[in-house]
Amino acid sequence: MARVYNFSAGPSMLPESVLRKAADEMLDYQGSGQSVMEMSHRSKIFDGIIKGAEALLRELMNIPDNYKVLFLQGGASTQFAAIPMNFMNKSGKADYVVSGQWSNKAYKEAAKYGDVKIVASSKDENFSCVPVMDKKEFRPDADYFYICMNETVHGNIIRELPDTGDVPLIADISSCFLSEPIDVTKFGMLYGGAQKNVAPAGLTICIIREDLLGNARDYTPSMLDYKLMADNDSLYNTPPCYTIYICKLVLEWLKENGGLEAMRDRNVKKAELLYNFLDNSKMFNGTVVKKDRSLMNVPFVTESEELNAKFVKEATDAGLVNLKGHRSVGGMRASIYNAMPYEGVEKLVKFMADFEKANS
Ligand SMILES: *Cc1c(COP(=O)(O)O)cnc(C)c1O
Repeated sequence: MARVYNFSAGPSMLPESVLRKAADEMLDYQGSGQSVMEMSHRSKIFDGIIKGAEALLRELMNIPDNYKVLFLQGGASTQFAAIPMNFMNKSGKADYVVSGQWSNKAYKEAAKYGDVKIVASSKDENFSCVPVMDKKEFRPDADYFYICMNETVHGNIIRELPDTGDVPLIADISSCFLSEPIDVTKFGMLYGGAQKNVAPAGLTICIIREDLLGNARDYTPSMLDYKLMADNDSLYNTPPCYTIYICKLVLEWLKENGGLEAMRDRNVKKAELLYNFLDNSKMFNGTVVKKDRSLMNVPFVTESEELNAKFVKEATDAGLVNLKGHRSVGGMRASIYNAMPYEGVEKLVKFMADFEKANS
C-alpha cells in the first residue's frame, strides 16, 4: 500500500495511527459487537465517546469551566449565520476584520442580520498580510468583534489579537485548531470545522463563554440555537457520531504526542523548512509577508501559470498531492497540518529544489 503525502487544505491528512486504530475497531468497538457507525447516539457506550472527546479537548486547550463545548454539524459556514443570530442582539452591531476569503464570507453572511462594519481589511493587498487594526475604528457598543485567525486560502495568521475591551472576540480557528496553544479566556467564542486539523468532515466544534448564551433571536432555527444545543449536551438531535469518535482518537494522538506545545514545535519546524526554501528560491515565491505567515497553509507561486501547472502535475506523479492553490487565487498551496509528518515537507522541499534545477 502506497500512501501519498496529501497537502490538501481540507479534508486533509489524519494521523496514520488514528486510521489504523479506526480500522481495527471498525467492526467491533471495544467489545460492543458494533461499529461506532451503527450504535445509538443515546447509548452508554457513545456517551463515553462524546464525553471523552470533550474532556480531552478541554484538557488539551485548557478550556475553563465557564465555557461550553459544542459538537455540531453544518460546517464552519453555517456558523457564519448562527453567530449573528445568537449574539447580534443588543445594539444589533458587529465589527469584522476581513483578512481573507473566509472572514469575507462570514462578514457577508452577518450583514444579512444587522449593522456590520468592516473595521480593517487587507483586500487591497490581496490578503497578502493581516490588516492594521486601528482601535479608533472599533465600536464599543458592538455586540461582538469577529476575526478569522488563520485564513486557509490566503495563508495569513493573526498573531496579535485586537484589544476589543468588553466586546466579546469571536474567532474562526478552523485551519489552526489544535496547531499550537491558544488562550481561550481571550475569546467569547472559538469555533471551527473539524476537517482541517481535527477529524473528518461533518463536525463543527464551538467553544462558547456561557454568559453569552441565551439571547438568540426568536426566529433562530433550533438547530442553530447554541443555548439549546448546550442545554442538550450536543445531543438535541443525532450528532455526527462517527466523526466525533475519530475526533476523540485524534485528541488521544495529540495527547500521546505531547499536546499543543509539542505540536507547535513540530509545526514551526515544518513551516520553517518550507519558508526558508521559498525565501532562497529564485523560482518559487511565498505570497504572504513574513510576519503574518501561517504555520498551516503555505501559498506560493512561480512567475508563470504554465510552470505552476507543470509543477503541480509532476508533484502529483511523485506522490505529493493536492498542491494546487485555491481556485480563487491560483498558484500553489501546501497545507501542512498536524498530521503532516516532517518527512512530507522534506520530500516536498527536495522535489521543489529538483524541479527548480530542471526548469531553469
Ligand atoms: C474551511 C474553512 C471554512 C469553511 O468550513 P466548512 O466546514 O466547509 O463550512 C471556514 N473558515 C475557515 C477558516 C476554513 O478554513
